Amino acid sequence: MSQPRDVIVLGAGIVGLCSALSLQRDGHRVTVIDRLPPGEGTSYGNAGLIQIDAVLPIAMPGILRKVPRMLTDPEGPLVIRWRYLVRLAPWLIRFVAAARPGQVESISIALAALLEHAHASYRPLLAACGGEDLFVPTGELFVYRQRAAYEAAKPDHERRRRLGIAMEEVGPAEMRQLEPALSPDIEFGVFSPGCLRVANPLTLSQRLAETVVRGGGSILQETVTDIEPGADGPNAVVTDKGRHDVDRLVVAMGAFSKRWAARLGARVPLDTERGYHLMLPRPGVELRTPLLEGGHRFGITPMSHGVRLAGTAELASLDAPPNYRRSRMLGRMAQKIVPDLRLDDAEEWMGFRPSMPDSLPVIGPVPGSDRVFLAFGHGHLGLTLGAITGQLVADLIAGRDSGIDRTPYRADRF
Ligand SMILES: Cc1cc2nc3c(=O)[nH]c(=O)nc-3n(C[C@H](O)[C@H](O)[C@H](O)COP(=O)(O)OP(=O)(O)OC[C@H]3O[C@@H](n4cnc5c(N)ncnc54)[C@H](O)[C@@H]3O)c2cc1C
Repeated sequence: MSQPRDVIVLGAGIVGLCSALSLQRDGHRVTVIDRLPPGEGTSYGNAGLIQIDAVLPIAMPGILRKVPRMLTDPEGPLVIRWRYLVRLAPWLIRFVAAARPGQVESISIALAALLEHAHASYRPLLAACGGEDLFVPTGELFVYRQRAAYEAAKPDHERRRRLGIAMEEVGPAEMRQLEPALSPDIEFGVFSPGCLRVANPLTLSQRLAETVVRGGGSILQETVTDIEPGADGPNAVVTDKGRHDVDRLVVAMGAFSKRWAARLGARVPLDTERGYHLMLPRPGVELRTPLLEGGHRFGITPMSHGVRLAGTAELASLDAPPNYRRSRMLGRMAQKIVPDLRLDDAEEWMGFRPSMPDSLPVIGPVPGSDRVFLAFGHGHLGLTLGAITGQLVADLIAGRDSGIDRTPYRADRF
């Protein structure tokens, strides 16, 4: 065990909470600060999937050809809101650059290195917080409404297989065994048996938070307003309610981390891919298996409190107003896959994925510092990678070798 430290974790999303619990299990005294109650930021509304198969970056070869459609089709899987184009340009240039075949290869390898540990790294945290019941090993079923979309996705599934992920071609009968509620129109599917679903992502965060508090840690509902610099890194975190001296600091503020990382000396090209959900409290059907609409990139996930339709991406900054038309669009599209799905009393939601242009998170120290650590930028995979990130953060603070090459996740890689 490393020397016990006082560690402040900024952000009580899944990444901050997993980091806090891992640090506490190492014997450190932890204080988590968030302006919201635990897990109520982006970690609240995701599709709830532990996607160990998600080894491909979001920007893939051919992305440039798709940009005009992203700008003009408000119902596309990835849209760019015109008004934010200029502000987004530096991120977009890097996003397109990450789609070069050589880059895609190395990004996939770096994602696979984390995803390999995604489930196992949750086990000790789930055991500590009594959360084992929340992880349901259902696999996930990619479904395609058109042969063209299915054919187009084949190279991606092949890439996943090359990286050791089991991806099973399934015919119409097998698909219906996996999910009897599937529309008879759906003929094409690929099953990914290693994925899991989380019965309720908010409950997971809440149980992690309760465990941190039970272990003697503090969770403070305060808004960070400044980080006071000192001669040797930060002196204190300043919030709307007070001032907290810093010994060790972890920045896990999701999509809002950029400003604070810069304040601490790390310039990172973090932006947000906003995503939407439509929560169906009375869906009218019981689903067995999470479904992923392969062409439009959204999930239909059975949860303990209903069915959640969640996904798609919108590039439009942190302060643009939500466009809930995108939530409602998920309802219409999902009914083409599960015709009996009822949309009564549906709740709309938008959240901010913390997205790096190369689809890789930032996990590591602020360059040159041994006191400040960054853990954000998990994009579409923050729930999946929460626990392995927490483990890496604890290893960093302990000065332990994690057995994972951290170079691809460095803050100064750009
Ligand atoms: C529609 C959608 C579907 C998704 N589906 C999946 C999925 O199926 N599987 C998966 O792995 N991932 C999924 N994701 C991604 C995943 O939800 C995110 O990557 C993850 O939640 C990020 O966690 P985080 O802890 O980094 O950020 P957050 O959960 O956003 O936590 C950051 C916290 O920082 C706090 N904060 C920010 N600024 C301040 C401040 N100044 N003072 C105090 N506190 C502050 C915020 O309040 C927030 O609670 C999805 C995302 C979306 C939007």
